This record gives sequence, C-alpha cells and structure tokens, in this order.
Amino acid sequence: MSAQQLSRRLRGLAFGGDYNPEQWDAAVWKEDDELMRRARVNLATVGVFSWALLEPEEGRYDFTWLDAHLDRLHANGVAVDLATPTASPPPWFSLAHPDALPVTAEGVRLTHGSRDTYCLAAPAYRAAARRLAAALAERYGDHPAVALWHVHNEYATLCWCDHVAAAFRTWLRARHGSLDALNEAWGTAFWSQRYGSWEQVLPPRATQWHRNPGQSLDFHRFWSDEVLGAYREQRDAIRARSDRPVTTNLMLPGYQNLDLWAFGGEVDLVAIDHYPVAPGLDAAADTAFGADRARSFGGGRPWLLMEQGTSTVYDGDRVLGKEPGETLRHSLGHIARGSEGALFFQWRQSPAGAEQWHSAMVPHAGPGSRVFREVEQTGAAVARLGELAGSTVTAHAAVLHDSDAW
Ligand SMILES: [Zn+2]
Repeated sequence: MSAQQLSRRLRGLAFGGDYNPEQWDAAVWKEDDELMRRARVNLATVGVFSWALLEPEEGRYDFTWLDAHLDRLHANGVAVDLATPTASPPPWFSLAHPDALPVTAEGVRLTHGSRDTYCLAAPAYRAAARRLAAALAERYGDHPAVALWHVHNEYATLCWCDHVAAAFRTWLRARHGSLDALNEAWGTAFWSQRYGSWEQVLPPRATQWHRNPGQSLDFHRFWSDEVLGAYREQRDAIRARSDRPVTTNLMLPGYQNLDLWAFGGEVDLVAIDHYPVAPGLDAAADTAFGADRARSFGGGRPWLLMEQGTSTVYDGDRVLGKEPGETLRHSLGHIARGSEGALFFQWRQSPAGAEQWHSAMVPHAGPGSRVFREVEQTGAAVARLGELAGSTVTAHAAVLHDSDAW
C-alpha cells in the first residue's frame, strides 16, 4: 500500500539520493536544482544529519532553513524523503546528557566527535528522539514536498552501559519468567556462573575467556527488540501527525546485529542501504543477495534501495571507482529484484568532513565527469521503467536464513 502511495506520488520509480544542502551556499543550490532536473531526480532524502541545525540548543527549534529547502525542492519537482536526525546528536546533547553516551564492552564511555554516539536505551536519548520526530511531523506532516518519512539512519550501534543492563534484565524476566529458568537456559551450572539475583545479570561485557553463549545470544535478541522499540516510538510520533508512509534505512550487508525481518513487519516500506565491499563479480553477486533479502524482509512486497554508492566501498574506508556501466547495472539489478527505484548517498560529494571521500552523484570533479554522466544515464533509464512501480518478483529458488542462528 505504501509502495503504491510513493509511486503514485512520483508517477513511477524513485531516483535520487541523500541531500545535505547545509554544506553549501545559494549558488550551489541553484546548480543543484538544474543538475537534479538533468539527472531526472524525483526524490531527495533531507535532514539525516541536521540535528544541530534543527535544534541548536535543547528545546529551541529552527525550521526556517529547512522550510526554504523543502519549498525549493518542491518547486523543482523533487519530492522529499524527510529524515529524523537522531543518528547524529550534536555536542550540546552529549554534554547535557553524559549518561546517554554509549559504553563499549570494555567499559569505555565514548564521546561526541563522530556520529551515532548515543545509547539507544538511555531515557534522555529516547525522549529527545521522540520529541524531535514529533516536532518535525508537526511542522511538515502535511507539507506537499514530503512523500516519505525516514526515521533515524542505519540503526546498528550497541551499548553495554547500566541503562542497557537494566533494560536487558527487564527483557530477560519477560522471556524466561524466572531466574531459575534463565539459569537453566544459559547452562550456568557450568563454570560456576549461577545467578542468585537479577541484579547479578549483566550485558556480555569484556570478560576472561569465552562468554556464556546463551547470554550473548539473548543479548543480541534483546538489543534487536530494544532498537525496534526505539524505531516504533518515532514512527508512532510521526503517524499521529502525518499520513505519509514511514520507514527506516536498514544497513546491508555489514551490520548484522539486528533481526531485519522483524523490522520488515514494522515499516510501511522496506528500505535498505547497500554498499558492496568488493568490486566486479563479487559486487554483482552481493547486489543480488542484498536485494533478495530486502524483498524477503517485507514478505515479498516492493521495497526501496535507499542508498548505494557511485563507487565501491572497499576494505573499510577505501573506495574504488566503479567500472563503466556498473552504476546502471547495480541500479537495475536492485529494481529487477523488487526495488521501487534507485537512490544514492549522497547527491553532492561533501567539501569537507568525515565522509569527504565517500562517493556521490555529483563528485568533486563536478558534472563534467564520467560519474555524473553515468548518473544521468541511470536516471534516464529509471524514468523509462516507471511501469514497473508496484510490481512484484517471483523467485524460483530460496535460501533459508535464520537470524538467531546467524
Ligand atoms: Zn548505553
């Protein structure tokens, strides 16, 4: 139903990407408008990393700049996938709420300076995320540019702090019913691990030799449920104020610590980010496998490729240029396996910052480049395939995957 809402709105498949215009000035925005028309962009994801601009200090919002970008994109025929910026808290947040900073398994409390530096189980973080989602939906719930809501970004980070310990115990009580049952399930009779009270039960923090495998497995099950709960809170805050579909971008293939099939049942439209980590045939195979899993998360429904790169992310931080034609090939590979379009991170390559070398639709070399020409070629192909919107895929073979076993 929500895939249909989106395709009706776009009159076909989606093409575009993350757009972070706060990095540039009005002259560049003008060129963006022109280049987006040339590339047949019809959907831009806005606001993913905009918390510090949207809420420069606790409780004080500034929407004027976002109003202007949404109005400009709408006037240019580009619909907006509006993100809640909760994956990148600003420095004021972590200074005001030090207990909401994540703690590693080794007991090191991280600090701001990167992104995703929050604890999803911290009450202050959860309250701030609900508040932001509600404020954005209140202002933009009926905005004509908004076609889709994008909650958070690539949920994945883990934490081992005391908030997490408390939430883990609550989850374990519900799962096992009694401490005796937990001791039985985890096999704590071995290595003298028997728990005599709930307070003794902790997340699987750094320890000597092997961890208890039952504890580790339950911790990952718990965390997947905790993250899904955080997603639901934002989704429900938006749904109360907007009738547009809501999703979150699930990260493939690297982050596998969540049950992504459980997320598939809670989003209006399954969305994935897909960055092959090897070039050539490996990238083609990984594209097929990632796309098939995305279709599976939603039980066969149409889904959406929310992010891909115009380069291959290789060996962690290094990037390789894609071979000529590969951007088109990967985009069509996803569409052939059920995606409602092909989107990228990000529209224009950052002039500075941590992802300065991450590929983009408009690279540092500008529009007079092979990368942008291939983006235009791909946009034109996607525009011609509009009749595929809402179609489903029949598979003749299956792979059995079990999240708990993984
Ligand atoms: Zn924590």
